[in-house]
Amino acid sequence: MWDLVVVGGGPAGSAAALGAKRLRPDARVLLLDKADFPRDKACGDGIAAHGRDELALLGVPDLIADYRPTRRLTVISPGGARVTATVARPNHVVPREVFDARLVDAARALGVEVRRHRVRALAPGDGGDGHVVLDGVIAARAVVAADGANSAVRRLIGVPATPEKHVAIAVRGYADVPPDDDVQLIAMQKEGWPAYAWSFPVGDGTANVGFGMLLPRLRATGLPGREVLHGRLAELLPHLPARDLRAHHLPLSPGRPRLGAGRVMLAGDAASLINPLTGEGIYYALLSGRLAGEAAVLAAGDPLPAYRRGVRKALGRHLRTTDVLARAAQSPGFIDAAIATAARRGEVFDLLVDVGLGAGTVPLPLAYAVVRRWLADGVRR
Ligand SMILES: Cc1cc2nc3c(=O)[nH]c(=O)nc-3n(C[C@H](O)[C@H](O)[C@H](O)COP(=O)(O)OP(=O)(O)OC[C@H]3O[C@@H](n4cnc5c(N)ncnc54)[C@H](O)[C@@H]3O)c2cc1C
Repeated sequence: MWDLVVVGGGPAGSAAALGAKRLRPDARVLLLDKADFPRDKACGDGIAAHGRDELALLGVPDLIADYRPTRRLTVISPGGARVTATVARPNHVVPREVFDARLVDAARALGVEVRRHRVRALAPGDGGDGHVVLDGVIAARAVVAADGANSAVRRLIGVPATPEKHVAIAVRGYADVPPDDDVQLIAMQKEGWPAYAWSFPVGDGTANVGFGMLLPRLRATGLPGREVLHGRLAELLPHLPARDLRAHHLPLSPGRPRLGAGRVMLAGDAASLINPLTGEGIYYALLSGRLAGEAAVLAAGDPLPAYRRGVRKALGRHLRTTDVLARAAQSPGFIDAAIATAARRGEVFDLLVDVGLGAGTVPLPLAYAVVRRWLADGVRR
């Protein structure tokens, strides 16, 4: 019997395995993934400073230390307001083919058994002790489902899929850039809003470039998805022709995540933990994965309540904040006002970064300042 079986070896899954093993080195932990590592994953490859804090908590503080930190960020709002500033703490851009494989290796080095295996079935085990059996043969005291945006385990335990209004779709590719390009660019687009393109330079003469929008807005165009996504990317970043284009959908956080059932905990994309304002999911995946792995060994008989408490404490207010902001941001004018305010006030810029990439919340006075500006802009128009 495994103490913990983790399904999926992305950031959430590796963090779960590492989190459990660091707390209880003698725990028997099995990590299953349908793919062999290294493997590619459609992603912007942007790792926020908050994600690096999680790497430190997982005992791998130097995992990406050989990648160049990116300190500058430019954001262009849907109406053309622009801010370029130095972020309080640098971000990193690390291709997922590298990042995820390093995390899996770190888990293996701690004694986690890693197997290539696609999970298709889940059933309660015999004996009434609450254990779970995967695919008829793998018995687990606890399961962390970190199997991504199309989580099979989420379906198997009866948690409904993320409603389509909370699902985005994005394409990413790679483009050549000057090796000294060190500005992360986010260029928002009014047409089909919310929608934006990005360029995240890796530091080796390439940049991860991409474009994302909400799935219902894409459907509303009536055009093939590929045509819209590839076309908008080329239109917004015409100087950066992209290769290796690959698209995937993003289940965005609806404010209150569904975190599992029985002995099965959902983490990362499987729990729809993606920031609805920015599409950031790696930090949430590392954090939620770690909390789930820790709960599996600290509260072995009934880990889900402990995991829920952990997520609520770490992200509860933040997730409710991003939910409210995502609703306000349906109006592009709100984002124009927020970016214009950030361009004038450094502390607002820092706070927006913290809300967009970390676990930040918005103090009321700032919310009022942005709303005042939004209303004033509305009156002027
Ligand atoms: C185009 C795009 C750009 C993005 N850009 C960014 C960005 O710049 N920064 C950021 O922070 N986030 C970004 N995100 C979000 C980020 O990619 C995800 O939030 C993150 O990968 C979630 O990690 P995860 O471990 O939950 O899932 P994943 O990384 O998807 O890992 C899931 C793993 O589960 C495995 N698996 C699936 N099904 C099974 C099964 N049945 N059995 C066994 N294994 C299985 C898969 O092979 C995979 O390895 C982006 C997403 C997209 C689509």
